[in-house]
Amino acid sequence: MTFPRRQTRQIAVGEVLVGGGAPISVQSMTTTKTADVEGTLQQIYALAAAGCDIVRCTCNELEAAAGLAQIVPRSPIPIVADIHHQYRMALAALDAGVHGLRLNPGNIRRPEHIKAVAAEARDRGVPIRIGVNGGSLDPELYERHGGRVTPEAMVESAMSELAYFEEVGFDAVKISVKASNVPLMIEAYRQLSEATDHPLHLGVTEAGPPPEGVVKATAGIGALLAEGIGDTIRYSLTADPVEEARAGRTLLEALGLRERENVDLIACPSCGRAEIDVIAVAGAARDALADRQLPLQVAVMGCVVNGPGEARDADLGIAAGRHRGHLFVKGTNVAVVPEAEMVPTLVEWAEFIAEHGTEAALARVDTAKAQREAEKDRAELLELQGDDANESAQRVELISKRFD
Ligand code: SF4
Repeated sequence: MTFPRRQTRQIAVGEVLVGGGAPISVQSMTTTKTADVEGTLQQIYALAAAGCDIVRCTCNELEAAAGLAQIVPRSPIPIVADIHHQYRMALAALDAGVHGLRLNPGNIRRPEHIKAVAAEARDRGVPIRIGVNGGSLDPELYERHGGRVTPEAMVESAMSELAYFEEVGFDAVKISVKASNVPLMIEAYRQLSEATDHPLHLGVTEAGPPPEGVVKATAGIGALLAEGIGDTIRYSLTADPVEEARAGRTLLEALGLRERENVDLIACPSCGRAEIDVIAVAGAARDALADRQLPLQVAVMGCVVNGPGEARDADLGIAAGRHRGHLFVKGTNVAVVPEAEMVPTLVEWAEFIAEHGTEAALARVDTAKAQREAEKDRAELLELQGDDANESAQRVELISKRFD
């Protein structure tokens, strides 16, 4: 199943194509001082490893622009300079060799300054994002739209900026109309996508710390992507930016909009049948498998009674039973390991499968023996717990008695 995507024109941010059917890219922003070249590069490498395609760094002072001149040639992914208030910083960032600029029309308002930056970017072949932000809308527009931030005001801000760019013949532009209010942001992007075919950068600004921030950003970005709107995305979280990149990447993979690169860890929610602390084991598996670039679905299931069946589509999984872990590949039992070795065994098999495939994994062991052991634990658990491990029948009986 795929979501039809709205057709947009294409621009290039360094070597990353945005719009025009290119894969939707993941962006994030460094939190270091840009003048701290080594610290910023360290964060950029961590972001790239977590699935970030384009990174933004603030360019708020001369030292930051000088830092960018050293960061750009050593960065593994394209760098966008974030500019507020001072148009001269945009020109300095272009001198530093950045692959893109982000301008906020709410705080660089003089037409001659906007056009000077656009003309310079045009001559250097560098794209610009018009980054409208609900919280920093041009005060004149704000007043004209009834003293509040509306989708119409945000779209008008973006389109007026675009008109200045067009005056100097510059069109390598992507646009964002972010707001922290999710319904407002969704409506603004819907209207913007009707008004222009420039590629759109999606985001819920100031989404806050996880998990609430991730939920808000996913609600806004996910809703738009499912409508075919959006060419590049950023999660704005109050967290380590690596979490932003992971969240963005996970959303795109979950929607089938990007090929899976890292492990997709699924786990049962746990219940009265669970033979292990599923939350702890799933967390340990996630930490052990994170960033290993194994494009597999891996399952952690709390019991061997239902686990292997419920997760039979996973490439690999483990289910607990009688202090042992039952490993299964595509639903077929392949090995039994002591409980303490569940996570390291998952990692070892995941690496084997990623390299050699599931057929080779199934061929390297006696699956009949593993199946017998799983059946044994399954039968014992059913004997012990019955088929109502959550004691629902008992509880229902108790409740009924209250009304006798
Ligand atoms: S029945 Fe087993 S696999 Fe399903 S939620 Fe409970 S513990 Fe997990």
